[in-house]
Amino acid sequence: MSRAPRPFRSILLLLLSVLLCSVFVDARAEHPVAPSWSPTPVAETIAPRFLAVKQESAAGARYPTMVRDLRSWSTADGTRLVLDLNRKASFSEHHLHNPDRVVIEVQNAVLGKDSRRRVSGGTVPHPYQITQSKPRTVTITLPRSQMTQYKAFALANPDRLVIDVSRMAKEGARQVGEVSTTVPPAPAPAAALPTPPVIPSPTVTEPARPASPKPAPPIRTIVIDPGHGGKDPGTIGRHGTTEKDVTLKVGLMLKDLIGSLPNTRVLMTRDRDTFIELEDRAKFANEKNADLFLSIHVNSHPHKGIRGLEIYHFGEAKDQRALEVAARENGTPLNNTGVGWQYIVADLLTTKKIEHSQELAWTAKQAMVSNLNSRYSTIDHGVKTAPFYVLRFTTMPSILAEIAFMSNPTEEDQMRSQPFLTHIAEAIFDGVKTYLHTNPLR
Ligand SMILES: [Zn+2]
Repeated sequence: MSRAPRPFRSILLLLLSVLLCSVFVDARAEHPVAPSWSPTPVAETIAPRFLAVKQESAAGARYPTMVRDLRSWSTADGTRLVLDLNRKASFSEHHLHNPDRVVIEVQNAVLGKDSRRRVSGGTVPHPYQITQSKPRTVTITLPRSQMTQYKAFALANPDRLVIDVSRMAKEGARQVGEVSTTVPPAPAPAAALPTPPVIPSPTVTEPARPASPKPAPPIRTIVIDPGHGGKDPGTIGRHGTTEKDVTLKVGLMLKDLIGSLPNTRVLMTRDRDTFIELEDRAKFANEKNADLFLSIHVNSHPHKGIRGLEIYHFGEAKDQRALEVAARENGTPLNNTGVGWQYIVADLLTTKKIEHSQELAWTAKQAMVSNLNSRYSTIDHGVKTAPFYVLRFTTMPSILAEIAFMSNPTEEDQMRSQPFLTHIAEAIFDGVKTYLHTNPLR
């Protein structure tokens, strides 16, 4: 290669140095100098999940994700913590020792005013902690001594981070079929957690967004599925009350209640005493492009003393009892419910459906328990998973409510009274409304 004339060489050198400088400046902008706080020792790190790969753009770094609000609710089975975010955020999970705990860190995030108020006001239930551990890191600490398992996942529209913690079985939780008259032992005191330093959050001002004309809200479709019907009476009480009759009454009332919501279409798999195959119920909801599927059933148990409500979403049966309920509702033998939960393809649609079903189930259950306990006393058997046919083969978020026990004389009597059934319908409606409020569906 021949040498370039001297003036050209000078220009080339100049261009090269300008280029090098700009690369250096860019690198500094994307990788700021490490902050001065000492990092927490990480014993064992689970692969961090990056929900938004492009999050660390210039705008993202300038405006951290704000945790707008914190919500939490607990049942005998566990606790759900919800962090309402103003945009997507990435989070990582770490297992730390002494004491054993799981630390979930939300990166480039700050606690907003309401969240800080909730933290100081005690919204976060003991022994969990949510803190602004670093100027731009929100940390959630879960002591392992108090839980069997946990799951952290993100939901969109609106963006939020959900953490489900399953409590230790000994902590007063009661399963269906277990009748206990003894006082549950007091939970062991949580090991003292090192409290991360509390750093005041920087004030965050949202960048102004240009106003755009509001599009017409889409119509959402909710399918109500009253269990059984026609030749299939479902479970029958000692006074001859049939499950098919109770589920239809509740379903029709629920239809009117949900139908009163704006932009909402309610469809029923049956609105009279007729037999519909389970397969056709699921097909119907899928063909109508339903956004939610609510199946209503009545429970039964060999022990007459067992009463209360439980809500199912699709998944593996965690105990024999849940499997029995699914087998009865599917009309299949116990050793073959006809629904292979293990064959689910873990595609995005399924994952999203399961997460939303889980949230709908929790919300509905919570609303039902608090509503019913204001007038009647119910027993909260919690949110469970089992391989129900109608939940497996519907493609949208779906739940199955076992509203009460036909085998319990008191609850059978209640289900023969219109006010009780009205109350049940209103309680389910309350749960659906709460779910729709945080999940506008489209
Ligand atoms: Zn049933």
